[in-house]
Amino acid sequence: MKRSFDVLVVGAGAAGLAAAERLSRAGLSVVVLEARSRAGGRIFTRRVRGWPLPIELGAEFVHGRSDEVFKIAREAGLLIDRLPDSYLQRTTSGFRSQHDLRTRFDAVTREMRTNGRDRSIAEFLRSRRRMSPAEKRLAGGMMEGYHAAVLERASEHAFSTRGEPPLSPEDRMQFRVVSGYDGIIDRLRSHLDPKRCPILFSAAVERIRWRRGSVEAATARGNFRARHAIVTVPVGVLQPGPGGKPGIELDPDPPDQRRALESMEMGQVVRVVVLFRRSFWEETEAVERLRAREPENSEVAFVHAWDAPFPTWWTAAPAQVPMITGWAGGPAATTLQHLSKEQIIDQALETLGSLFDLPAPRLRRLLVAGHVHDWSADPWARGAYSYETVGGASAPDVLARPVAGTLYFAGEATDRRQSGTVPGAIASGHRAARQILD
Ligand SMILES: Cc1cc2nc3c(=O)[nH]c(=O)nc-3n(C[C@H](O)[C@H](O)[C@H](O)COP(=O)(O)OP(=O)(O)OC[C@H]3O[C@@H](n4cnc5c(N)ncnc54)[C@H](O)[C@@H]3O)c2cc1C
Repeated sequence: MKRSFDVLVVGAGAAGLAAAERLSRAGLSVVVLEARSRAGGRIFTRRVRGWPLPIELGAEFVHGRSDEVFKIAREAGLLIDRLPDSYLQRTTSGFRSQHDLRTRFDAVTREMRTNGRDRSIAEFLRSRRRMSPAEKRLAGGMMEGYHAAVLERASEHAFSTRGEPPLSPEDRMQFRVVSGYDGIIDRLRSHLDPKRCPILFSAAVERIRWRRGSVEAATARGNFRARHAIVTVPVGVLQPGPGGKPGIELDPDPPDQRRALESMEMGQVVRVVVLFRRSFWEETEAVERLRAREPENSEVAFVHAWDAPFPTWWTAAPAQVPMITGWAGGPAATTLQHLSKEQIIDQALETLGSLFDLPAPRLRRLLVAGHVHDWSADPWARGAYSYETVGGASAPDVLARPVAGTLYFAGEATDRRQSGTVPGAIASGHRAARQILD
């Protein structure tokens, strides 16, 4: 097969495919080198017989009305649902509606500083003497849960939203690609002409040797050459792994980008998707009591119990199916990571039992099956998604800079505005393609 191209793209996730699509449309010859035997990377949709909906083991939500995702979804005719804006908090006495949860979290991130000495989020929270313990718990829970960050290490400057325009109702909306997030990947792939832009699977890149105007990638399927390379692998793969070696050796190692990589971390997440025989949560006394008290805010969509082993849960609402997802991010994930799949499902049943006041054996009888994917043990991800540690707020921008007009980095971690997301990954792929074409 051909071994020499205009551009090598490393990784067939959202960023890599978005970049390849733009470049091949512009007439460049491109090869996409992918370590796995599938495309999509951290978009990992499974379809299992007997399950009413596709199972998302990676990305699931579209946060806000993202142009990147909606445009592709519209072209591909994908089914998108808007999620109910309903957040319930489990308290000792039952459920309380928290419909203003995102506004309250936004109010906290607006208080974070963007200049002066950078601090950890934990230090920032300790410094807010007038903030109530409940508000601190909420902010900590959101940082750990949604951003998968460790409070003692995450950067205040990076997470600050100070000075940004207020959150519009559109920004607060959340959506789900009900027909499966992989529809976005399939659509991006459908634009690639296999002759001008082949994707090589099971082609893990081990080393990229480069000099101005020339790159050579050593892979499990031989060596490939090009004038440019776009590296879209997760930052975890570029950082030293268990044996102290990064997943890809860059030769020479670009010093600014290496420093940027050192100031980022992969957040850890454990998620479990469980199917029951019926949606038992709809029938529990705690939910009925809430419905009697607050009928307009009592849809069971998202449920939080910040101190539980799985602090966050969501149902498939608005779809009425007996599927529920448990989510542990940051330190909660680290506690669960070493457990087997069966132990994780047991832990999920325990947590659901205490959330909804039901004995775990009863839930076990209602259980059909559960699915888990261990992203931290996944050698092509080494975690869920990136965040900046103290002093690292500029790291995404540094990574987004071209290196000698030859080496480019893309992927969620390189998009400061939307890091950790699919839209961020797609936007970064487009940005890298633009940099090459310009
Ligand atoms: C559990 C979980 C839940 C998430 N939930 C959401 C969500 O609800 N909404 C949202 O917007 N985002 C979510 N995300 C984040 C989102 O999935 C990512 O931000 C996005 O998919 C990243 O795309 P990417 O192209 O940057 O990276 P990836 O998708 O990781 O693509 C990089 C590719 O590089 C490949 N690769 C790695 N190493 C090598 C190598 N040595 N050689 C060749 N190829 C290699 C990988 O196999 C992968 O295919 C979630 C992520 C996880 C893990």
